[in-house]
Amino acid sequence: MARNIDGTEISRVMRAEMAQQVADLQAQGVTPGLSVVLVGNNPASQAYVSSKTRACETLGMKGQTLHLPEDVSTEDLFAAIDRLNADASVHGILVQLPLPAHLPYKAVLEHIHPDKDVDGFHPRNAGLAFVGDPRAFVPCTPAGILEMLRREDIPTRGKHVVIVGRSLIVSKPLASLLMAPGPDATVTITHRHTPDLASFTRQADILIVAVGKQNLITADMVKPGVVVIDVGQNRVEDPGSPRGYRMVGDVDFDAVSQVAQAITPVPGGVGPMTITMLLANTIQSARQALQARAP
Ligand code: NAD
Repeated sequence: MARNIDGTEISRVMRAEMAQQVADLQAQGVTPGLSVVLVGNNPASQAYVSSKTRACETLGMKGQTLHLPEDVSTEDLFAAIDRLNADASVHGILVQLPLPAHLPYKAVLEHIHPDKDVDGFHPRNAGLAFVGDPRAFVPCTPAGILEMLRREDIPTRGKHVVIVGRSLIVSKPLASLLMAPGPDATVTITHRHTPDLASFTRQADILIVAVGKQNLITADMVKPGVVVIDVGQNRVEDPGSPRGYRMVGDVDFDAVSQVAQAITPVPGGVGPMTITMLLANTIQSARQALQARAP
């Protein structure tokens, strides 16, 4: 039976460490501040945004939401981001995705000043991360997965990591981080056009799945002793639960748990780590702002 990799508990430990870092910064006159830009009224986005700003507050950081109407123009959104770019009390800016279709999301993400781009989606940060420059803000989900493996003492050196999915937000930066000196993994990326997916997933020592399809990975698709990281977040109807739905990942958790060595649950695995790394990036940004101010 697989060991549960408890992202909530790892996050609790990390956030306690980070609260001390926030207190140290405050003693030097800086309170790390995160501004989240939310456009429209997508309920899932609203829930994600409020959990991010709430997490900030529990650490003594400033977390604020800028809520803009669904039909906001590109110009008005850019102007709002400009104001946050210029505000010295804001160290991190995040635009919650997905944006309404009329907004050019790539241009919007590029409008965030790279020094405040704590999501790490700006091309400058993506490039810095790709070349292994420590000034980069690394996207939060890949950073959280690496941190989780490190804190769980799961070695990556020489291991075959198979990633399912090729997104810019998760899989591509994760592949680049894992193959770099240090983690030293051998990485295979698969995606929707990969034929015979199981022939790849069965080779994995560590299998990371970031697709968004319930039960994509079944027990016959993994080798015994694999470590499974399930990034997927899928909403399934559940009339018995208070909200009428529950979240599941991309992996058939119960069956794969019988075969794997360790596995992340959904919820309570990668999700909390993502928010924790967002807080870490915002603290890093506040620290860099303080250093830049020093004579
Ligand atoms: P995306 O839609 O950008 O990418 C999905 C990827 O899956 C694509 O690269 C596609 O090629 C691949 N794919 C689709 N069908 C496939 C199949 N049958 N076989 C193999 N590959 C297939 O998604 P994303 O933004 O990377 O998110 C993926 C999932 O992870 C979603 O469920 C999302 O909600 C979740 N997510 C969770 C967190 C977290 O913090 N837990 C963070 C980001 C994303």
